[in-house]
Amino acid sequence: KFYEPHPVGFQSANSGGKIPLGLKRKGLRIVVTGGAGFVGSHLVDRLIARGDSVIVVDNFFTGRKENVMHHFKNPRFELIRHDVVEPLLLEVDQIYHLACPASPVHYKHNPVKTIKTNVVGTLNMLGLAKRVGARFLLTSTSEVYGDPLQHPQVETYWGNVNPIGVRSCYDEGKRTAETLAMDYHRGAGVEVRIARIFNTYGPRMCIDDGRVVSNFVAQALRKEPMTVYGDGKQTRSFQFVSDLVEGLMRLMEGEHVGPFNLGNPGEFTMLELAQVVQETIDPNARIEFKPNTEDDPHKRKPDITKAKDLLGWEPKISLHKGLPMMVSDFRQRIFGDHKEEGT
Ligand code: NAD
Ligand code: UDP
Ligand code: UDP
Repeated sequence: KFYEPHPVGFQSANSGGKIPLGLKRKGLRIVVTGGAGFVGSHLVDRLIARGDSVIVVDNFFTGRKENVMHHFKNPRFELIRHDVVEPLLLEVDQIYHLACPASPVHYKHNPVKTIKTNVVGTLNMLGLAKRVGARFLLTSTSEVYGDPLQHPQVETYWGNVNPIGVRSCYDEGKRTAETLAMDYHRGAGVEVRIARIFNTYGPRMCIDDGRVVSNFVAQALRKEPMTVYGDGKQTRSFQFVSDLVEGLMRLMEGEHVGPFNLGNPGEFTMLELAQVVQETIDPNARIEFKPNTEDDPHKRKPDITKAKDLLGWEPKISLHKGLPMMVSDFRQRIFGDHKEEGT
């Protein structure tokens, strides 16, 4: 350890849960990379509410200050504009490493930068974790399974990924990030946690990021046709963001390295999703078929037995319950007075 516990009682994640005599635990010092993004900002809300001190590290590629500005006056909150591809020195107890563009449109925009973020960015944050003895959680993805030949996907499945395709910067980048995490764990004793996140939606998603839920909701609200790619029979499983955040925190606090699938096993074709959006927003919303993108996985559904058994976690919010909460946020951002920036 290169640092002492904070005098008011900050406790290292690695101190085995023992609080030194006379020191009352006030909270942990936690870095959230990508904390100004969609998932990260919801995680930050929960950590701040729990009493932790949070440092958000974000380069604002897809994140927005608006997602975290409600914490600006809180002395337990700090925001650093920083690209994780560059080294960073901080003294913290835990690192939630989320920084990485997540939507296919964003990660294909500059594929080399996506790879660098996944590989060099993850290496730097693992180097940081090693130096200060912090616990490190990687937000990996269901994309590590590629176009899966096993259904539903179990953590022991090694995947079916095209190493030279247009999605590889993301899939292979995340696979390498998992490898790095395991190598720092085995080689340097870093306490790591790996989450494989399945498609997640909710308030604060970028409105025009090209992901299917945000596209359909924004299109239906704007009275534009919903763009279904291909025949619309491909499937995804959609998880509401608060369920994911709960899973990430349980994983970080628990004793298991993972990887763990974190997703909602409810499986929908894109046509079925369009139907749920019609029911939620506008029964007359139209559908327009468009050619599909390259290497699009045909089906995806998590097997979450491991997370249920070892983390006591399972999602609580169905698509029918979660979608209206996202719709009211999108409605306000699209039609409200609030001016949108950075999306
Ligand atoms: P997002 O785009 O809203 O958030 C990513 C954040 O990372 C943004 O704030 C962005 O500005 C920041 N960022 C990107 N590159 C960076 C860099 N080089 N340095 C510093 N900051 C950088 O996406 P999200 O949906 O919130 O995803 C968060 C994490 O979860 C990502 O790692 C993503 O791969 C993973 N994930 C998300 C989903 C999902 O469905 N949302 C699914 C699987 C995995
Ligand atoms: N690193 C960082 N912050 C730290 C410690 C390390 O950004 O507090 C970076 C460091 O610059 C290096 C990477 O993490 O590029 C890996 O660090 P490590 O010490 O594991 O490897 P080495 O520096 O020996 O290559
Ligand atoms: N998709 C669609 N219409 C859109 C955007 C996406 O039909 O406007 C499809 C896409 O082809 C894929 C699925 O929705 O099969 C999920 O795409 P998304 O980009 O949300 O996430 P992915 O799981 O592919 O990373």
